Amino acid sequence: MIASITLKDGLATKSSLEAASFAAAMADATGAEAVAVVHGALQGDGGLGATGIKKVLHYPAELHDAGQIARLVAAAAQGASAVVFPHDAIGKAAAPAAAVHLEAGLISGVTALPQDGAAPRNVFSGKATAEIEATTNQVVYTLTPNTFSVASGGAEAAVEAFDAAVGEARVKVKSFHPSSTDGQVPLPEAERVVSAGRGLKGPENWGIVEELAQALGATTACSRPVSDIGWRPHHEHVGQTGITIRPNLYIAAGISGAIQHLAGVNQSKVIVVINTDPEAPFFKAADYGIVGDAFEVLPKLTAAVKALGA
Ligand SMILES: Cc1cc2nc3c(=O)[nH]c(=O)nc-3n(C[C@H](O)[C@H](O)[C@H](O)COP(=O)(O)OP(=O)(O)OC[C@H]3O[C@@H](n4cnc5c(N)ncnc54)[C@H](O)[C@@H]3O)c2cc1C
Repeated sequence: MIASITLKDGLATKSSLEAASFAAAMADATGAEAVAVVHGALQGDGGLGATGIKKVLHYPAELHDAGQIARLVAAAAQGASAVVFPHDAIGKAAAPAAAVHLEAGLISGVTALPQDGAAPRNVFSGKATAEIEATTNQVVYTLTPNTFSVASGGAEAAVEAFDAAVGEARVKVKSFHPSSTDGQVPLPEAERVVSAGRGLKGPENWGIVEELAQALGATTACSRPVSDIGWRPHHEHVGQTGITIRPNLYIAAGISGAIQHLAGVNQSKVIVVINTDPEAPFFKAADYGIVGDAFEVLPKLTAAVKALGA
């Protein structure tokens, strides 16, 4: 089993750790070896051994061209029965090309391990699930972020230098401008998220959401209508048609808890809901519920967090 890994500051990103855990679980089930392919600056084993990866193949140069990454991964995957990419920007572009090189079936956006050869994926904006089976011996998967738990407890993986004919880069990154300038952890990777919905009444009121997020070291998110109206940027929209998240803490203020919203957040470890309406459906999914006005509750929470020094 091969996992294709995206590194950030020498360590595997959260979605890559999920892909590694997925590959390691498949390897466990079949008795195969779990191997990760990385490129660019690497710290130790990149945190991959803990997920059950036994060997890390390290290509020293950092690659940005999906075509090159596909050739690198295809070279490492000769003979492997499955290749797993995170369904991130790189995986979405490189996995189809790797599948072409390997003449393998591609199953993109899977949400769980295959059962009897078929893997599930959401279709029609999450309105249905399809079980997809490849007809080839080798299969390339992309794994939807935050749908598979990161494994832990494995031993340090062996790191081996790896070389492959990746060809010339056909594209290069000319400049890079992160969309959030306030140093927040990107939403798919965030362990703490403070989110708000239409109950906040208008974009001018988001200061109280941002203050709590800042006090908690959390990332801000929102419901879909809020980003549709333009109160918040689209990259903050969570849910069925937005980003799927799986933080340790999800605080939702002024969000009703529609099924489409829950689809993207209900894997969060602890859910705290603040809503004036005691009948709001979100309370059914909450670990802690506060029936109250977000304009009063959020500043109080911020003050309490600051007082605790959390
Ligand atoms: C195909 C499809 C896909 C969709 N995908 C998504 C998706 O990915 N993500 C998503 O979020 N939605 C999605 N939706 C929309 C979803 O159905 C809901 O309409 C949406 O989530 C509602 O957003 P909201 O909770 O912010 O607003 P509302 O439903 O208007 O709820 C506002 C809530 O705020 C509470 N409130 C009001 N004032 C206060 C106050 N002062 N303090 C505290 N609480 C207060 C109200 O009691 C209410 O519960 C989708 C819909 C469809 C049809």
